[in-house]
Amino acid sequence: MILLSVVLGAMPLSARATEASIQDMRLWTAPDHSRLVLDLTRSVKYQVFRLHDPERVVIDIEHARLKASPAKLKLPDPVIQAVRYGTPAKGVLRLVIDVKEQVKPRTFLLKPMQGKPNRLVVDLLRPETEQKAAIIASDKRRSRDIIVAVDAGHGGEDPGAIGPRGLKEKTVTLAVAKKLASLIDRQQGMRAVLIRKGDYFVPLGKRVRLARAAHADMMISIHADSVRIRSVKGCSVYTLSERGATTDKAAQALAAKENAADEIGGAPLDEVDDPMVSKILGDMFRRDALNSSQILAEKMLARLKKTGPVKYGIPKRARFVVLGALEIPSVLVELDYISNPERERKLRDASHQQRLASALFDASRQFFEQMGRLGKQASLKHGSTVL
Ligand SMILES: [Zn+2]
Repeated sequence: MILLSVVLGAMPLSARATEASIQDMRLWTAPDHSRLVLDLTRSVKYQVFRLHDPERVVIDIEHARLKASPAKLKLPDPVIQAVRYGTPAKGVLRLVIDVKEQVKPRTFLLKPMQGKPNRLVVDLLRPETEQKAAIIASDKRRSRDIIVAVDAGHGGEDPGAIGPRGLKEKTVTLAVAKKLASLIDRQQGMRAVLIRKGDYFVPLGKRVRLARAAHADMMISIHADSVRIRSVKGCSVYTLSERGATTDKAAQALAAKENAADEIGGAPLDEVDDPMVSKILGDMFRRDALNSSQILAEKMLARLKKTGPVKYGIPKRARFVVLGALEIPSVLVELDYISNPERERKLRDASHQQRLASALFDASRQFFEQMGRLGKQASLKHGSTVL
């Protein structure tokens, strides 16, 4: 038995007497890991270790009892075969996760935030998939296509904004991102990389790192906004501002809201970084990318105007962590207000999603044409050749 980690939850003495209860559990499957999230009534002390033959990960939680049922988890997933539980000693709840391959467990506690309770996050990391991703990325580099990183905001534990009829921002952003990616992939000379491919959370810093690893030439981060006043509607487009150059208070508040994703979605400490600080670039290089981002943002607004209402007619600037790839043009698009019932209905509609994706695609293609990176009448890969 190898003890991998002992984490002490911050817990006042008076709380020790009361048992913690696990009220709910959720499973999110990402390409490189599976994540089990336990909702707790209070913070806990726990231990994690691995056992072999057969492979399993064991979590012993002190003074806890299970109210949620593992039977509701959609199992098996690519990593987890089954989740069992028992009481090996008085006052200890043991969760046993049967896994299909050797995984590296990574666990951490999350404090209550935006309606979410104390949570224990158990990530089971698959070592091999990281290598595969790197190989795929280097293959793409060799092809010399223009690579666009398409980033669907939020995911997994982090639903993003939620509409009055229950539509989640994470669902809309993924649907539009997939449509945009397939338009890009059909274009000769362009290729898309989806930063998030399913319903799981990707920390903000990791989104930037994935774009870099794929040698992306552009980053489009897709979101939908929300506000208490339900009549508010329309799209807006944002670029990165350097410290102190935020357009206005509203843009600053939006960036703070989007930047909080790591705390809601659950980013392990080693993945909470500020890519803008860690990457040092020459001033001219950076200014060039910021100018390009501005040009791209203007093109996107011009196209999006044809699909529906516009909230702000000019691109705004704020300090979004996800736009930290300073070396490439990067924009964050708020498609519309999901808090507006009429716009929520539109955002749910597949043909409207397709129109939004087309607008973003047209703007990106025009941008690269203007930069001389793409032939003016580039043909479709699978369509008839246009000369
Ligand atoms: Zn968002």
